[in-house]
Amino acid sequence: MYETVTTECPWCGAPTEVSADCSAGSQIFVEDCMVCCSPMLIRLECDPLTDGVAALTAVRENE
Ligand SMILES: [Zn+2]
Repeated sequence: MYETVTTECPWCGAPTEVSADCSAGSQIFVEDCMVCCSPMLIRLECDPLTDGVAALTAVRENE
């Protein structure tokens, strides 16, 4: 199940939408910011009871 989550780009500060797929459980993946195209490391935490997004944070990929 895909959910679109709006988070804040750690590079340019713009709100950016990330597609989160909780069918595979919690995961870390890289997504490019839609505004500045910089790579964001997305940490996705899923709720195992609902298969929904529990938390989503974005950090700079090189940190
Ligand atoms: Zn950005």
